[in-house]
Amino acid sequence: MEKKEFQAESKRLLDLMINSIYTHKEIFLREIISNASDAMDKLAYKALTDDKVGLDRSELKITLTPDQIARTLTISDNGIGMTKEELEQNLGTIARSGSLQFKQEMARQEKAEGDTTDIIGQFGVGFYSAFMVADHVTVTSKAYGAGQAWKWESDGADGYTIEPCEKDKVGTDIVLHIKANTDDDHYDEYLEQYRIADLVKKYSDYIHYPIVMLMHKSR
Ligand code: ADP
Repeated sequence: MEKKEFQAESKRLLDLMINSIYTHKEIFLREIISNASDAMDKLAYKALTDDKVGLDRSELKITLTPDQIARTLTISDNGIGMTKEELEQNLGTIARSGSLQFKQEMARQEKAEGDTTDIIGQFGVGFYSAFMVADHVTVTSKAYGAGQAWKWESDGADGYTIEPCEKDKVGTDIVLHIKANTDDDHYDEYLEQYRIADLVKKYSDYIHYPIVMLMHKSR
């Protein structure tokens, strides 16, 4: 399968995330949950303006599924989803968002030879923050109104692939393959139910959709 390259700016941000020595890597979950919530807002908004959507708002929710055996943390939403073009556009390039601002601030501080390690927390660094804790990311999405679902996959800097896939329901599943532990970082914690629940409480308390956790059997 053809591997597509990230836009140059995205590549730089990704490198930064992959090699991050930032101590609050945990903020990745806040960023991904926030995107999921936005996607559900978009679908809810569409339902207000389009009778065809026929949405039951009470069904909108975010589901977190840690799997210690597969070493994955999956974040699923039943929001508006992404088409193939949107996956490429939104995840392959840095758009407006916090990510661009972040990149600019990073460049500014580097020029000034300042300490750049603290600025991650000050910005919404968005989807790419997943690469602080994951060495492989799979995004499966089916857009509202689309017949075909798409799978976007990347292990970071050397690009991404995109292919058609099966997905029944509209929405997005983000599967993070969590990095192996190092001397300094215990990435295993992002597979632990209690730790994840803590992070949700700490950073995502303001989210107005239910956030539920499904458990795979652990060891
Ligand atoms: P930001 O959220 O600040 O725009 P991100 O890098 O976090 O930047 O996300 C880029 C874009 O990808 C979002 O603006 C959104 O359009 C799309 N996106 C990310 N996650 C999802 C999701 N779960 N469902 C639908 N679209 C998403």
